[in-house]
Amino acid sequence: MPAYKHIKIPSEAKQIIVKDKKISVPDNSIIPFIEGDGIGPDIMKATQKVVDAAVAKAFGRKRKIAWMEIYAGEKANNLYGEWLPKETFSAIKKYLVALKGPLTTPIGGGFRSLNVTLRQVLNLYACIRPVRYFRGVGSPVKHPEKMDIVIFRENTEDVYAGIEWKKGSKEVKKVISFLNHKMGTKIKSDSGLGVKPISVSSTKRLMRKAVEFAIEQKKKSVTLVHKGNIMKYTEGAFADWGYELAKNEFRKKIVTEDEVYKKHNGLVPKGKILIKDRIADSMFQQILLRPEDYDVLACPNLNGDYLSDAAAAQVGGLGLAPGANIGDYIGLFEATHGTAPKYANKNMVNPGSLILSAAMMLEYLGWNKAADMIVNSIGKTIADKTVTYDLQRQMSGATKVGTSEFGDCIVNNL
Ligand code: NAP
Repeated sequence: MPAYKHIKIPSEAKQIIVKDKKISVPDNSIIPFIEGDGIGPDIMKATQKVVDAAVAKAFGRKRKIAWMEIYAGEKANNLYGEWLPKETFSAIKKYLVALKGPLTTPIGGGFRSLNVTLRQVLNLYACIRPVRYFRGVGSPVKHPEKMDIVIFRENTEDVYAGIEWKKGSKEVKKVISFLNHKMGTKIKSDSGLGVKPISVSSTKRLMRKAVEFAIEQKKKSVTLVHKGNIMKYTEGAFADWGYELAKNEFRKKIVTEDEVYKKHNGLVPKGKILIKDRIADSMFQQILLRPEDYDVLACPNLNGDYLSDAAAAQVGGLGLAPGANIGDYIGLFEATHGTAPKYANKNMVNPGSLILSAAMMLEYLGWNKAADMIVNSIGKTIADKTVTYDLQRQMSGATKVGTSEFGDCIVNNL
C-alpha cells in the first residue's frame, strides 16, 4: 500500500532525521513544499529555481534538494476535498524541514486560519523573522540601513490561541455571567470575549531560542517586548519569565540592563549579551528612531506580528520579508506576507521574501554557503536596479521585471 494518497516520495533521495538531538541532513535531502494559494505558485516556482541553482553552484553534484509536493489550501481542497489533509501534517512531521507558500484562510472551512493551525498542530513555537536592509531599496526613513533585527515571535499562544466567543452567543453569556457573578467583573452584556493565555513554559522555550540565537550569531542584545504595564499577568509575566530564563540558563553569557546600571557604571561588560525589555508602544518608536540599538526581539504573538510588518515597511515592504516557524526539530519556512490575491498568476510580485525564507531554510540545514550566495545575489540584483514592481515604485531609474525574470536575474548573479 502506498504511504500516502497523493504525495509522491522522490526516489533515490533521503529523509532528514533527528540524531543526537540534532537534525542530520543527507546530501540529497527530501524537502516537502506547499505551493500556496494566490501568488504562491508564481513565487514558489521562482524560489525553487534559485535554490536549486545556488545549491548546485555551492556544492556541485555533491548536494541536491529533492522537492516533494505536499498539499494545503485550495489545491488540497480540489485534490482531497479538505483544506489541510492529515497526510500533510504527517509528511512535515516525518521529513522535518519544509517550505511553504502563503495560504488563504477559507471562509466557513472550519479553520480559523490554515497557517495558525499548521503552527499549532506541529508545535512550531518560534516564528523567526529577520528584517534587514538591502542597499538601493527605497524606504520611508532616512537611514534604513540601521535596521538589522531578528524578531522571535511566540507562535502558539496569546490572542492567537483562538479562544473567543461571539457577542450574544450561549457561550459568551455563560462566561460573562461567571465573570460578573463569581469574579467581580463588570463586563457589558453586549460584549464579545477573547482569552489571552501566556504560559511560563511557552515563554521560556521561545526566550531560550532567542538567547541561543543571539549567542550563536554574536548579537549584542535581546529585548523582551511587552505591554506589561497594562497586562501584568500575561505580558508583564512574559517579560519576568524571559529575564528568569536568561539568568537561570545563560548566567555567564548575559547581563541585564538593570545590572548594567547598578553594577557596571552603565557599560555592558565585554562579551556579554544585554537582556533588556521595552513596552510595546515604545518599541514602535524605538525601531523608527534608534533601530541600531536593537538586534534580537523576543515578543508575544500579537506584538511580534505587528512589529514584523512595521519593521519590514521601514526597509522596503513585505516583498523582502522572510520567516521561519521552528519547533524543537521541525522547521517550516515561509514569507511574512499572504496570498496577495489581486496579483495571483500575474507573474508580477516579488519572490524575494520566499527566496530569503528558503535561504534561512538552507542555513537551518547547515548549507550556509548556498544561503549566503542567495542573499548576496539578491543584494546584487537590487543594486543592479532590475526589480519587481514593489521595489521599482520606490526606486529611481529602476527597470521593472516580473517574478520569474527577477528570479532568473538572481540565478545569473549567484
Ligand atoms: P497580503 O497577501 O500580505 O498582501 C498585502 C499587500 O502586501 C499586497 O497587496 C501587496 O501590496 C503587498 N505584498 C504582499 N506580498 C507581496 C510580494 N510578494 N511582493 C510584493 N508585494 C507584496 O495580505 P492580505 O491581502 O491582507 O491577505 C491575503 C490573504 O493572505 C488572506 O486570506 C490572509 O488570511 C492570507 N495570509 C496568509 C499568510 C500566510 O500564509 N502565512 C500571511 C498573511 C495573510 P501592494 O498592493 O501595495 O503592492
